[in-house]
Amino acid sequence: MNKERKLIIAGNWKMNKTAAEALDLVNGLKRELASVKEVDIVVCPPFTALDAVSKAILDSNLRLGAQNMSENGFGAYTGEIAAGMLKEFSVRFVILGHSERRQYQKEPDALISKKALAVHAAALKPIVCVGETLAEREGGRTEQVLETQVTGSLDGLSKEQMVETVVAYEPVWAIGTGKTATTEQAQSAHAFIRGVLVRMFDDTVARRVRIQYGGSVKPSNARELMSQPDVDGALVGGASLEVRSFADIIKNSI
Ligand code: PEP
Repeated sequence: MNKERKLIIAGNWKMNKTAAEALDLVNGLKRELASVKEVDIVVCPPFTALDAVSKAILDSNLRLGAQNMSENGFGAYTGEIAAGMLKEFSVRFVILGHSERRQYQKEPDALISKKALAVHAAALKPIVCVGETLAEREGGRTEQVLETQVTGSLDGLSKEQMVETVVAYEPVWAIGTGKTATTEQAQSAHAFIRGVLVRMFDDTVARRVRIQYGGSVKPSNARELMSQPDVDGALVGGASLEVRSFADIIKNSI
């Protein structure tokens, strides 16, 4: 597939897999995906499996991501994880503002932008998630919600930092539900987000930012979604937990 930007496909394992299970999964992915050069492949295990996975993928084309990070450096923040801890395991990417964290941990846009700045300060790359709920879509507020989340969550980033940031469009109603946005819905939301980035930064920056689609991506719908001009990859939840399905999503996207 000939794309303007290199595809980036990331697996968000959420709160799944012990370290031993994570090793099995990642060793299978290494075998299946060794020859793939066209896609940046990222796996985001839970913190407790970062050590094992990071050692296992050392000599491979898989990159490591974390699912969250503190906006603060080392210090008295019980239960939190600092950038310096992630760097010890060669983490390259950090998912921020996932809808589950927005919902359960009540993370607001202002906190997500602080975290994004902390991620960049550590020379890591954030994957910043945005997306509307079903009620917001049905109420005709999708674009308003996306504009608020994009401007709020990316507030304060420099142009150089924005180019190194990945945005994930994840309609909340499509996450883990088996309902995928149609290719038209995905393309239209992605083009809208890119337009917001043009206004916030400039056209050159916006054209370089990779925008992933997330929400029930599977081997059968990956190709069509990835063929959309503004869809530059995928953030995959459920289907990233099995070697077969995650590998096939990547192979079907090339
Ligand atoms: C996600 O949680 O980021 C996600 C897209 O999940 P799923 O693929 O299971 O819908």
